[in-house]
Amino acid sequence: MTDLSEPIATRLDAVRQRLRAAEAQYGRQPGSVALLAVSKRQPVDAIRVALSLGQQAFGENYLQEAVEKRAQLADETIEWHFVGALQSNKTRAAAEGFDWVHAVDRLKIARRLSEQRPQHLAPLQCCIQVNVSGEASKAGVKPNAVSELAHAVAALPGLRLRGLMTLPEAVESFAEQRSAFRQLRVLQEQLIDEGLTLDTLSMGMSNDLEAAVAEGATLVRLGTAVFGPRPEKSS
Ligand SMILES: *Cc1c(COP(=O)(O)O)cnc(C)c1O
Repeated sequence: MTDLSEPIATRLDAVRQRLRAAEAQYGRQPGSVALLAVSKRQPVDAIRVALSLGQQAFGENYLQEAVEKRAQLADETIEWHFVGALQSNKTRAAAEGFDWVHAVDRLKIARRLSEQRPQHLAPLQCCIQVNVSGEASKAGVKPNAVSELAHAVAALPGLRLRGLMTLPEAVESFAEQRSAFRQLRVLQEQLIDEGLTLDTLSMGMSNDLEAAVAEGATLVRLGTAVFGPRPEKSS
């Protein structure tokens, strides 16, 4: 564990400073942007190190891996976020084992998550993934279909719709990065005008977190910036 502690402490510190600096620069309240540490393919010991440094929210995107890690970390208090694409045969594990699901993009998936959410747990918090860059290859609902899906998801008893999420196409310029994130914010404002109660914009990763914070991100999802490069799959 010692060989992991120092690099993670250094990276986590740098990431927190970057976040606080971006909040200050773009007029956001200090601490208003939450950090989700995306721990996919990182060992359980790396999560323990980050936990010991005060990080509590972790994101995974492979269900089988996440279920195993959760079992190994059962002694810890962790807020688990599923950030990957969900197939309908995997919804039960997500509904039972996670606090959040970020990438809901079909009503069928949302209905299954709602039905499969155990009664003794609080409703599963979720975001609708929006494809703002319009690439055929990327997951997410098209902007013109968000409203209908959002109202349907918000009505499901086992779910609590918190907001929108996006994973935009990688672009170099800050202006282009901002424009994708701005689209998500504008969509969110429209949904709020339509009467939905939403408080989460899940957007921004290692290379575009400043642009996301500038456009109102409330949660940024960072993997390599916190943990370093992901190890190759060993099994
Ligand atoms: C892996 C992943 C991240 C983090 O990516 P990094 O490049 O490691 O920061 C963020 N969001 C989603 C949906 C991911 O799958």
